[in-house]
Amino acid sequence: MRKLAIFGGKAVRRNRLFYGRQCLEDDDIQAVVETLQSDLITCGPKVEEFERRLCEEVGAKYAVAVSNGTAALHLAAIAAGIKEGDEVIVSPITFAASANCVLYCGGTPIFADINPETYNIDPMSIREKITERTKAIVAVDFTGQAVELDEIRKICDEYNLLLIEDAAHSLGTKYNGKAIGSIADMTTFSFHPVKTITGGEGGAITTNNEVLYKKIYRLRTHGITRDQEQMLNSSDEPWYNEQVDLGYNYRITDFQAALLVSQLGKLERFSKRRKEIVKMYNDAFSHVPEIIVQKEIPESDTTRHLYIIRLNLELLTCTRRQFFDALYAENVCPQVHYLPVYWHGYYQKLGYKKGLCPNAEKLYEEIMSIPLYPLLTDEDVEDSIRAVKKVIDYYRK
Ligand SMILES: *Cc1c(COP(=O)(O)O)cnc(C)c1O
Repeated sequence: MRKLAIFGGKAVRRNRLFYGRQCLEDDDIQAVVETLQSDLITCGPKVEEFERRLCEEVGAKYAVAVSNGTAALHLAAIAAGIKEGDEVIVSPITFAASANCVLYCGGTPIFADINPETYNIDPMSIREKITERTKAIVAVDFTGQAVELDEIRKICDEYNLLLIEDAAHSLGTKYNGKAIGSIADMTTFSFHPVKTITGGEGGAITTNNEVLYKKIYRLRTHGITRDQEQMLNSSDEPWYNEQVDLGYNYRITDFQAALLVSQLGKLERFSKRRKEIVKMYNDAFSHVPEIIVQKEIPESDTTRHLYIIRLNLELLTCTRRQFFDALYAENVCPQVHYLPVYWHGYYQKLGYKKGLCPNAEKLYEEIMSIPLYPLLTDEDVEDSIRAVKKVIDYYRK
């Protein structure tokens, strides 16, 4: 058994690997520079081009690009009509923004538990949490794997709920052959640097519903419209525009959109590489009893954003914290995704209590995310596997 780096042994690698990072190439940088030298650096043709390209890519009728994924969720929640007194069912194992968007609108997030094997929201638990106040579901494709969309759609139809899919992790994923972005009533994306493609910051909403589209489009720019049909008053003055909703400035710049157009052209290559790395990890870990590998549902052809190892702590002498620290010291730096949203101090202040979603809480206490991004070489992935196995060997019971 080799001495762990945390106890003074030699680390598996010299430079650190983190769980995610962007992949920017010369042509991406060139695209940004060209747009910075053009006439319009915001509200220009690149934003529209990106929206068109995203629609083609995911098979949606409409897309609105916005400043980040949180803004996308916020606008989707407003467009869904969420207001005080409304309940929205949300997955607890997600970035807080998935639930915060409900709070922004004065609504109440209701957390449904996850399936303990797939880690996605459990349709059975959704059913148990529905009340007369339920208006919508925010379903998160956690790690990139699609939620059980057929079953969730059925629930939405039965109870007349809107389905918002938080696809911050799942650009490039297909569900029963259909791209994520074309299925839910509204799908939101994030283009933060760790996500599958990046604009530095950025987000988008896709939908096939024209009414929702027009509303989101207006809300991105203060709720102001130039479309006579959407105005309360009529005017033929050429400068006239009218604010008809209380909107925001959630615009994205043209140079970010240019970067996104360039990155979107690489989605297939990025997706393929992510899948190769996931396969290397699955092959390495699926026969290691100390590690539980995330279950994949056959309906989801997944472009994975996160690779999660779940520890079978009964077979190890260490805690999750000790495992995390030991792996970090080997320079394969993990991260934990995510604290159950309602464990955050802010949610505690709102009155949410521990124990609400037992499967989610148990998962949280046993997981960590290890490096997954297209720039990893096979050697990097092998280092990562070697480091995980080294820590397991040390702490095996
Ligand atoms: C990243 C992320 C968001 C927020 O996106 P930003 O672009 O960072 O605002 C929302 N939901 C999930 C699940 C995310 O991973």
